[in-house]
Amino acid sequence: MSITWTCHGCGQEREDEWISVAHFRVKLPLSGHVVEFGARHCNDRARCLIEVAVALESWAKAAFNAEATPAVHVLFGGFALCGTLCGVPAEWPAGHTWVRVDQVSQITCELCRLRSEEPLCR
Ligand SMILES: [Zn+2]
Ligand SMILES: [Zn+2]
Repeated sequence: MSITWTCHGCGQEREDEWISVAHFRVKLPLSGHVVEFGARHCNDRARCLIEVAVALESWAKAAFNAEATPAVHVLFGGFALCGTLCGVPAEWPAGHTWVRVDQVSQITCELCRLRSEEPLCR
C-alpha cells in the first residue's frame, strides 16, 4: 500500500512521490514570533504550486494582521489553532478570546477558521 496525500491546489489525492510541501514564513509585528505555514502541492503541476503559493501568502498576511486585531480563536491543545498567538490564553494580547473547534459560527479569526476546516501541515 502506498501513501497518498491531498493536494491543496487541485484537491486531488496523489501518491507520495508526486506531492511536495511549500513553506512560507512570516514574522509577527508585536511578538516577533515567527509563524510557518505549509501546504501540499503536486510537484509535477506548476499550476498547483502557483495556487498554493497564493494561498500561503494570503495566510501569512492574515497571520500578520491577526496578532494586532482582537479576534475569537479556536483553542486547540491549549493554544490558538492559527499559531499567531504565543502561549496560552492568559498570555494573549488584550481582546483575544477563544471558543472550541466545534463552535464554528463564533470564530472570527480567519486562520483559525481555515485550519478548523482543513488542518494544515506545519
Ligand atoms: Zn495538485
Ligand atoms: Zn486564530
